[in-house]
Amino acid sequence: MSEDPLIKTRNLSVEFKIGGGLFTKQILKAVDGISIDIPRGSFFGVVGESGSGKTTLGRALLKAVPIARGEANYDDGEVQYDLTTLAGPELKDYRKRAQLIFQDPYAALSPRMTVRDIIAEPLEVMGITRTRDETDARVREIAEKCRLNLEHLRRFPHAFSGGQRQRISIARALVSGPQFIVADESVAALDVSIQADVLNLLKSIQREMGLTFMFISHDLSVVAHTCDHVAVMYLGRIVESAPTRQLFDNARHPYTKALFSAIPSLDPDDRGTAQKLEGEIPSPTNQPPGCKFHTRCPFATDICKREEPSLDTCEEGHAVSCHHWQELSEKAIA
Ligand code: SF4
Repeated sequence: MSEDPLIKTRNLSVEFKIGGGLFTKQILKAVDGISIDIPRGSFFGVVGESGSGKTTLGRALLKAVPIARGEANYDDGEVQYDLTTLAGPELKDYRKRAQLIFQDPYAALSPRMTVRDIIAEPLEVMGITRTRDETDARVREIAEKCRLNLEHLRRFPHAFSGGQRQRISIARALVSGPQFIVADESVAALDVSIQADVLNLLKSIQREMGLTFMFISHDLSVVAHTCDHVAVMYLGRIVESAPTRQLFDNARHPYTKALFSAIPSLDPDDRGTAQKLEGEIPSPTNQPPGCKFHTRCPFATDICKREEPSLDTCEEGHAVSCHHWQELSEKAIA
């Protein structure tokens, strides 16, 4: 893993106008002031509940939704792109370098195309290969990397299980030779027994091909063994960000701790004394003032309702956005 960021954002925001008539439009702040560095060759996790903005962040970095404000840059050592202004032939080139693995392996694959044609489609659409032989050779190479049986390339997706379909989706994402992959809840739709298999495949492909992953998940237990670094999002903002081991050993933010408490324990004596997350994430169109988490936080005080906390460094590589993280950490130790 390199220290140089492949993706670097500063105060990145994504907004959508929603609502009916001319004067009733509301602004939905899906991503609000995100600053992250994703090092080249890393597996970067983004975690949060549904509605936290993690999917929109991934799509903004793929240029699939417009960026409202802030900076976003891509630098793979060969090319550098400003993602806020990227267009024309450079955007076409970026599409080869940045790809998405979808969540639902059943909906992502056309039932009318063979596995070979599904994997080959990006090569043909992007004009990467010129002849059928060239395309077939590249499809076979990627199918083998994704541990797909070459005999299966002539079959249709309905003949495969969820795990096998996800391997086909992964092969399709990899075939253009990308450097950056956004994997959005890529194992959420799979059985637990298959999840580990697909996660191991993603990790080995990432190492072997030197790729950079943004791995989006609602489930902290899924990112535990996969990601090098995890950013926790709540209502469009990062509330905590740390190397994975550090986050798991020493989470500081009440929201992160609540997400940990939602992981089922295998210990039959564990009566669940950890903090539980209650209520629902507020609407992004009607965000509470101050700390966005104060409506659900058991430690909220007056300042939390008035002032939004900044994202401060508490240890090297570990940042937290909470007015009271120090007192809460001392209490936990006492
Ligand atoms: Fe809870 Fe206040 Fe910290 Fe927000 S700033 S997480 S409301 S203690």
